[in-house]
Amino acid sequence: MFTLIDLPYPIDALEPVISAQTLSFHHGKHLQAYVDNLNKLIPGTEYESMTLEEIVIASSKPVPEPVEGPARKAIFNNAGQILNHNLYFTQFAPRHSRLDLSRHSRLDRESAPTGPLKAQIESQWGTLEAFQKEFVAKGVGLFGSGWVWLQADAAGTLSIGQYPGADNPVAHGLRPLLTFDVWEHAYYLDYQNRRAAHLEALWGILDWSVVERRYNKQ
Ligand code: MN
Repeated sequence: MFTLIDLPYPIDALEPVISAQTLSFHHGKHLQAYVDNLNKLIPGTEYESMTLEEIVIASSKPVPEPVEGPARKAIFNNAGQILNHNLYFTQFAPRHSRLDLSRHSRLDRESAPTGPLKAQIESQWGTLEAFQKEFVAKGVGLFGSGWVWLQADAAGTLSIGQYPGADNPVAHGLRPLLTFDVWEHAYYLDYQNRRAAHLEALWGILDWSVVERRYNKQ
């Protein structure tokens, strides 16, 4: 049985980038529904004893009849969405409380990569800003619902992945490091149709130390 993850910050901690209202629906309703659905789908199947990552990888590939069918796709979609949201919600941290804003500019408080991840981004994109620009452009350019990812291969080489629906880099043999959710439920209450503005604002609450830990964990 899978359970809903706890948010590692208060429900209003990411405002104004992600409002408490958006977060309460996104975590408490959307993610909860994926967890409930998966828990109904997997009992009695080969997926029952697997980890979330194992379920996503196994259910991403067609299997012989009679197991193959709509159930596998439903399992992939719900397991994928749980894995995606678990990675998404745990990569943020409040950056600028009201007190901090009185003393620091936003840029002073923004997190940035260091160490091997910083070196790798700069070797592939030149600057962090160039990487961020391409990442947001790929999120904006993803048609319909999906996720944009920073992902790494076994050698540590980075790439930006655009996947529709519930797909995740683990289904492509890659490690997920950072992701922006471009499903409308992630931003519509706060930004309506302004997806680009929302994605650009997410840099302000991204905790790069989380992304680095994912990168350094080979
Ligand atoms: Mn979502």
